[in-house]
Amino acid sequence: MLQCTAVTNTPITEAVIALTTLEGGSVHPEDVLLEEFVLCELPEHDETAEHASQLYVGETREDQDLWLFWTGTDAHRIYRLEVLAMCPARLHERHTGLTRRCVFFYNHRPRDHSFFVTDPLRQALAEEIRAGLRDHAEDRTNDTDDI
Ligand SMILES: [Zn+2]
Ligand SMILES: [Zn+2]
Repeated sequence: MLQCTAVTNTPITEAVIALTTLEGGSVHPEDVLLEEFVLCELPEHDETAEHASQLYVGETREDQDLWLFWTGTDAHRIYRLEVLAMCPARLHERHTGLTRRCVFFYNHRPRDHSFFVTDPLRQALAEEIRAGLRDHAEDRTNDTDDI
C-alpha cells in the first residue's frame, strides 16, 4: 500500500494557537518546528477521507498528538486541526521479534495501519543510506588490507 501524495502548506498561525492550548500547557510553540509544507501521511485514499499530517507528537505515549486535516486543493482547501489519541494497533513481527506501533490517530480512515504503508521516497533514502554504510565498511576493509 502506497502513501498518499497530497501536500499542503501549514496554517502556521492556527497551528501555533492549537499548540498553546494543548492539554497541560507544557508545550512552547516556539520550540516546535513547524514545516512550511506537510505531506499527507495516510495510505492512498479517495476524497471522502481527509488528508492528515501529524504536526506535533506528544512527549509521552499517553499524550495526545496534534493533527492537521485538510480536504480539497488550492483555494478550495479546508483545514481542521485536532488533538487526537494514537491508534492502539500494533504489529508483532515474528521474524524480527519487534513490535511496531501504528503512528496514526485513533479511528483513522482509511483503516489501514501505518505499518502497512510504504513510502517509496523514504524507502529509497533508507536504501541509499544502507548502501552508503556498506561502501564505507568496504572502504575500511580495503584500508586494513593495505596495511
Ligand atoms: Zn491524503
Ligand atoms: Zn492504526
